[in-house]
Amino acid sequence: MIKIDYKFYCINCGKEIERNINFPFCIECQPYSQESTFRKIKGTHCHYCNKTSDYIDIILPFCKECRLFDENESSNNIYYIQTLKLYKGMEENERKKLKPIWTDYQNATKIIELLELVKAKKLKIKDVFDNEPCHNKRTLNILKGWGKGIAFNPPIISHNKSLGIIDGRHRILAAYFLGVDSIPIILK
Ligand SMILES: [Zn+2]
Ligand SMILES: [Zn+2]
Repeated sequence: MIKIDYKFYCINCGKEIERNINFPFCIECQPYSQESTFRKIKGTHCHYCNKTSDYIDIILPFCKECRLFDENESSNNIYYIQTLKLYKGMEENERKKLKPIWTDYQNATKIIELLELVKAKKLKIKDVFDNEPCHNKRTLNILKGWGKGIAFNPPIISHNKSLGIIDGRHRILAAYFLGVDSIPIILK
């Protein structure tokens, strides 16, 4: 079951705060954090899910489950394998609960039918995660981000004779996976 939760938490006390990856503290905990400017500030609560964990600090304010995947890391990582299995097994109704979130939506040149982009490849939903782990990880990170209410830039598409993806292949895959019909794009 994918958790959709747009809240963020102080890594010291667990209070709900705005998202701030660089300084994930509430106002009350800020003096505490300033005292320890010169060392790696430890936290106890995950900035994303509020779960307590030994691994949290100001550099990586997430528990192991919430950390984004590093595409260069070994793919034997149990959290990657579990997350991949979780998304691969998602039914259509579950996928549709998650929605893509885009930045700069107004400045996007146009909204494009997503199928126009994927039909050339005859892509099926089951193929979305049949890629190299480094690509799967990037697509999973986007889906995890959307589950937390984080916006991504619309993909950049070239429009010469045919449509070509300049930037945003994984965002397109992630949006397609969620079953949306169209996405904003920036035409170059
Ligand atoms: Zn706090
Ligand atoms: Zn967490």
